[in-house]
Amino acid sequence: MSERYDVAIIGTGPAGLSAAITLKIRNKKILLLGNRELSPKIAKAHEINNYLGIPAVSGAELGKRFLEHLDQMGVEITEEQITAVYAMGDYFNLQSKTNQEYEADSVIIATGVNLGKPYPGEEKFLGRGVSYCATCDAPLYRGKEAVIIGFSPKEEAEAEFMAEVASKVSYVPMYKEEPNLSEGIDVIRDVPVSIEGNRKADKLVLKAQEIETDGIFILRESVSPAQLVPGLKMDGNHIEVNRKMETNISGCFACGDIVGTPYQYIKSAGEGNVAALSVTAYLDQKKKNKS
Ligand SMILES: Cc1cc2nc3c(=O)[nH]c(=O)nc-3n(C[C@H](O)[C@H](O)[C@H](O)COP(=O)(O)OP(=O)(O)OC[C@H]3O[C@@H](n4cnc5c(N)ncnc54)[C@H](O)[C@@H]3O)c2cc1C
Repeated sequence: MSERYDVAIIGTGPAGLSAAITLKIRNKKILLLGNRELSPKIAKAHEINNYLGIPAVSGAELGKRFLEHLDQMGVEITEEQITAVYAMGDYFNLQSKTNQEYEADSVIIATGVNLGKPYPGEEKFLGRGVSYCATCDAPLYRGKEAVIIGFSPKEEAEAEFMAEVASKVSYVPMYKEEPNLSEGIDVIRDVPVSIEGNRKADKLVLKAQEIETDGIFILRESVSPAQLVPGLKMDGNHIEVNRKMETNISGCFACGDIVGTPYQYIKSAGEGNVAALSVTAYLDQKKKNKS
């Protein structure tokens, strides 16, 4: 049986990091999921002037300070992208892109805002020819054709893995860098428009061409929260929360950009702190109910 954490925190932006630090102080067993590059929104900021106590700081410098803070407190980052979170009643089961499973009594979603809109047809055919995880679903495409839409060079590894099983792999890079892929993989520089099919997806329509295929893999940096956590109540593109950062699912909390505007570092960090204290109260109450 896998190890059970008190709290799984998904996201390594200011919201997730702040939640992790407060939970560490409250002696909770935490699993912080994301990566040590933290957040592209920290790395890309040229100069930040409204983060309390650290004026005129570059995103790179702020990220460095965040990491130092984590290291000093002994908070580790587990470098994983979570693809699904299932509420199992008494606990949560989390699945990752590398096919790992984790268990936690509670979850904090701090995944940042997902600005990319789904392609027309994407949600309709999800699980029927559309997937977000090549590593997980590649075995279903043995001897078949697959198209991968990759939003970062990191996804090239997924295309390579798919090429080991599929009869043909086409790769559509959504970034400027030239992909470094094995010869057999077709690189297609075009812009996806929609996904079509009947009972299952069988065609990717791009601006300049159409590709008939058995499966379409859309590998974004993040998936929308409603797809990540089935049953989660949304308010437009944001997760609906109350002032305690509680979602409609008991034991599931959310904070940062993903719960609404204004999109700001200090708001995200503040909400991460509130979520952490609410989780602490939730876990303590749960423990009392059991004893
Ligand atoms: C160029 C730029 C400049 C900015 N300047 C300022 C400024 O001067 N002042 C200010 O206050 N704000 C500024 N912002 C806004 C600020 O960056 C955001 O409000 C803040 O980063 C939000 O923090 P967050 O923790 O909610 O989300 P994010 O910082 O977006 O972090 C979310 C993290 O979760 C990870 N993640 C997502 N899904 C998953 C998953 N399924 N599994 C694992 N990890 C996942 C993401 O990769 C990311 O690392 C700026 C933003 C940009 C883009």
